Amino acid sequence: MDLSPSPFLLLISGPSGAGKSSVYLPLMEKDASLRFSVSCTTRPPRPGEVDGREYHFLSREEFLRQVDQGRFVEHFTVHDQLYGTRRADLDEMLAEGHTPVLDLDVQGGMRILSAYGDQVVSVFLFPPSWEELERRLRRRRTEDEQEIRLRLENAHRELRWADHYGYWVVNEVLEQAIDDLRAIVRAERLRRTRWPRPPLESSGRER
Ligand code: 5GP
Repeated sequence: MDLSPSPFLLLISGPSGAGKSSVYLPLMEKDASLRFSVSCTTRPPRPGEVDGREYHFLSREEFLRQVDQGRFVEHFTVHDQLYGTRRADLDEMLAEGHTPVLDLDVQGGMRILSAYGDQVVSVFLFPPSWEELERRLRRRRTEDEQEIRLRLENAHRELRWADHYGYWVVNEVLEQAIDDLRAIVRAERLRRTRWPRPPLESSGRER
């Protein structure tokens, strides 16, 4: 008896430094049906990042060629670099019964919501405070001062879109935030509308 729930996409947005990957990566390690949606980007890899794992790192020319071919369901400039999600990558994961996990900025998030509608479970991740967000961005030491300023400015802009997301999670205590995301995924799999049919149906005989 196959009662697997109809597939959905898990969209996660929130300001850079909110800790999105720290929240979804541990969950993905334990749940094989969650699959990271590897975006394309023109930004250079950071130390430790692997092409095809965190991102497909493309030259600007290659990125724009794929835009012309209509391969992106959404693509935007984020922090002065191009980022995009390929439609075929998402559709392939859904067809295999997997749950794509999309870590996107709010512009991309809105586009995914309009392209996939009710199939999207959207989560906005908040840092606990502005002070903490700035501390986290500085602690990462991956961006220079100008980039940190740019990311903080963008964070203000991103927060204005939080109302469009179905769930809000505050990443104050990491373990708690991971647990919250786990609860969302679990509840969404149990949503009545995702069941292909009832697990047990009335035989029609009334007593
Ligand atoms: P980072 O360069 O720190 O990895 O990512 C910067 C921002 O780009 C993050 O907010 C991330 O969510 C967003 N991002 C990553 N991939 C995509 C994508 O494919 N499309 C869009 N619109 N945003 C993305």
